[in-house]
Amino acid sequence: MVSEVDLSLVRSSVREFAEELIPYARKIDEENMVPEEVLDRVREMGYLALRVPEEYGGPGLSMLESVVVIEELSRVSSAIGIMATVSGSMVVYPIARYGSEELKEKYLGLLAKGGIGAFALTEPCCGSDAAAIQTRAVRESGEYVISGEKVFITNAPYADFFIVAARTGRPEDRHKGISLFVLDKGPCVRVSKLSMMGYRGSGTSLVHFDECRVPEENIIGEENTGFKKLMMTLNEGRVSTSASGLGVMQAAFDEALNYSRQRESMGKPIIEHQMVQYMIAEMATILETARLLVYKAAEKIDKEEPDVPLYSSMAKLYTAKAGVDLVRMAMQVLGGTGYSKDSIVERLYRDIKMIEIGDGTNEVQRMVIVKSLLGKIRI
Ligand SMILES: Cc1cc2nc3c(=O)[nH]c(=O)nc-3n(C[C@H](O)[C@H](O)[C@H](O)COP(=O)(O)OP(=O)(O)OC[C@H]3O[C@@H](n4cnc5c(N)ncnc54)[C@H](O)[C@@H]3O)c2cc1C
Repeated sequence: MVSEVDLSLVRSSVREFAEELIPYARKIDEENMVPEEVLDRVREMGYLALRVPEEYGGPGLSMLESVVVIEELSRVSSAIGIMATVSGSMVVYPIARYGSEELKEKYLGLLAKGGIGAFALTEPCCGSDAAAIQTRAVRESGEYVISGEKVFITNAPYADFFIVAARTGRPEDRHKGISLFVLDKGPCVRVSKLSMMGYRGSGTSLVHFDECRVPEENIIGEENTGFKKLMMTLNEGRVSTSASGLGVMQAAFDEALNYSRQRESMGKPIIEHQMVQYMIAEMATILETARLLVYKAAEKIDKEEPDVPLYSSMAKLYTAKAGVDLVRMAMQVLGGTGYSKDSIVERLYRDIKMIEIGDGTNEVQRMVIVKSLLGKIRI
């Protein structure tokens, strides 16, 4: 297990790197893209391969260490933080856990060398109802031919390859007819970048797969067994996404505390007004509670405990709800300044809402929590 000392070393090294991102964070949001020079530095640091095991050339971080990296990156740039979440955790998981040795060597090796992966599950027809996806994979002389449309896919414009969930069975088989594939980006893949409210620059896109041919060796595990693998991946994804939310929350809290000490009203700094103190105290408590829960969920993943789905969803639900509340209070502390485009808190306010939607909405987390409590979901 990771010691407190190791964790603080990880944190201080990422924090040092994140300083480099400060001058770019606004530009990434405004231009809805990460400049090449920033992407190159992020690749070099191995942040897009966080969970790739050392035997494949990656940093081999534990879940808890990855959480700290994502938190610290997101504190400065949510876009970079979520790119690391997807490529370094959600793309790694299904390959490392269920992929063949050939897939591991090729794709985990690629990530370790600075390649980028994307995770393509959601479709225009269906997000929460993942068992209803329509993208098809048809087996044809030693290959699978994949056609369909995916939406809101993080990293897509930057990605070298995609984890794609596709239907190999009948639509009425729902979750029992889904398989997972690794698909290289090529001419059959069309990426159209979307203009989202927050997490801008992370490349959220509409992606068309037009008769993409992948070798049959690129299936992850057996045919029609992809859904369970997706759900297992989402357990890890939800904790990583929550970690990104923690970074956004920390940034908003820091801004609010700092401003409340400097801004004066009615003859004293606003931090001396009891109603502002109330908000600062609430924010500090929310932040620490969320962090404890996210770290606990990460430790459960590291120990492979059976209640991982319960804790992943509780961490995600709490961080999302409390995060929206915290950033709203931070903006309130900053008054009109917070509502201005010149303020970082304006961006954080747009960013934090994503945590209530991405990797499963709050409503979906509640469903997982109840099913887990009833013993219907375990790893
Ligand atoms: C910035 C961003 C990045 C993303 N990145 C990725 C990515 O990289 N890869 C990927 O595959 N997806 C990604 N997503 C998609 C995300 O996971 C989905 O948006 C999410 O799962 C919700 O799906 P939906 O948008 O289709 O909403 P819907 O499923 O249509 O839900 C609409 C509303 O209905 C509610 N609802 C639906 N079904 C039920 C039910 N049974 N009971 C109660 N309420 C219900 C939902 O909670 C929600 O409030 C991203 C989304 C965003 C915003």
